[in-house]
Amino acid sequence: MAEKTDDKMEKIVALCKRRGFVFQGSDIYGGLKGTWDFGPLGVALNNNIKREWWKMFVDAREDMYGLDAAILMNEKVWEASGHTGAGFSDPVVVCTQCNARFRADHLTDITTCPDCKGQLGEQKDFNLMFETKVGAEGTQKSYLRPETAQGIFVNFKNVLDSMSPKIPFGIAQIGKAFRNEIAPREFLFRVREFEQMEIEYFVKEESWEAEYEKWLEEIRAWHKHLGLSGENLREVEVEGDGLAHYSKRTVDFEYNYPGKGFDELSGFAYRSDHDLQNHIRASGVSLEYIEADGSRFVPHVLEPSFGVGRTFMAVLSEAYTEDDMGSGTRVYLKLPAHLAPYRVAISPLLKNKPPLVEKAREVFVALKKEFGNVAWDDNGNVGKRYRRQDEIGTPYCVVIDFETLGEEKPEHKDTVTVRNRDTGAQERVHIKELATYIK
Ligand code: ATP
Repeated sequence: MAEKTDDKMEKIVALCKRRGFVFQGSDIYGGLKGTWDFGPLGVALNNNIKREWWKMFVDAREDMYGLDAAILMNEKVWEASGHTGAGFSDPVVVCTQCNARFRADHLTDITTCPDCKGQLGEQKDFNLMFETKVGAEGTQKSYLRPETAQGIFVNFKNVLDSMSPKIPFGIAQIGKAFRNEIAPREFLFRVREFEQMEIEYFVKEESWEAEYEKWLEEIRAWHKHLGLSGENLREVEVEGDGLAHYSKRTVDFEYNYPGKGFDELSGFAYRSDHDLQNHIRASGVSLEYIEADGSRFVPHVLEPSFGVGRTFMAVLSEAYTEDDMGSGTRVYLKLPAHLAPYRVAISPLLKNKPPLVEKAREVFVALKKEFGNVAWDDNGNVGKRYRRQDEIGTPYCVVIDFETLGEEKPEHKDTVTVRNRDTGAQERVHIKELATYIK
């Protein structure tokens, strides 16, 4: 099959809009830069990504605890973590002629404006946190959190006291994060409001290297579960300036985004005891782990960190396929079944034949009880329905026809046609076996 993937990213963005995955934020008002809204199918794919992540990293393990901390936190949290200072700033340059802003570290020439060729001004530090005021008096400053991780460190003692975990153990959180990025770009890749899936895994200092190796395997297994393990994924050991002073090892997982090339998808840092020590110093609260024999220490931490939006983009890029099935080019999303917005679509062969529609509704209701995410599709002819479902990645289409009713071939009574998204192959399956077949 011929792959036709010119301008693949533009095609994916267009498909996302056309089929209800992702819309520009505040669309009818001309948008708000760096924000995107997830439509009915996008929220389904997003939820599937997050659910699979939680299943793998929390539910399937005995050493992980979930958390959902508030987005607004005491401003002291961000002073202690270093986010209010230069550590969480990007260098910005502004054009003296057209006023466009650029991230200086993303430019090769920091004197000439890439848009209008005007003179660029002096480079300044720009803090990425969104500031806000809490309460009617407006005297208390707060920030929209720029990462979920600090919510975990701040709750370290609460989890210790309430759950008595045995070290090593981890705390996992999925939630929104906000960064006032200087130049939001490349669809969901760099936005101002996004979701993170983060883990802080607390270990004894002497065991960090062994635990790091185990987590590398876990992260590889996660990417494989998303269908991303092939040549479009690579691991990069972060070295030199890229490595934070407190981190002894960081590996970035990079995906080869269409039209962009390799860039960060997920990150995995060993952060020593840097964060807990910061909060001990600033809060005066002891954040030590106490062993059964009474010995105390501040744990070190491994931080696997994932962006939901970048995962969404990588999953769609990997799944987007064009081939020459039937007449003309067909577009389909080769999504793993556990990520597809709909698990299966049900249709009556003809929508104006009540016995067909009734039977199809019966099948639909039964499968909906079983899977939840089942589509009903009776628009246009069957060929068009297949194309529509292919485009949104539905792994199976089930058609109820006259044979199902026993009108044509009596031996086919109560069987349906099941069509496979990737191969287009069709099989007759008995209604009783349908749920098992789809599973
Ligand atoms: P970058 O270097 O690309 O700005 P980062 O190293 O600052 O990213 P982290 O602070 O490690 O990113 O954040 C963890 C994860 O959150 C990233 O791997 C990425 O998936 C996601 N993420 C960070 N910033 C953004 C953003 N502006 N838009 C979308 N996702 C983001």
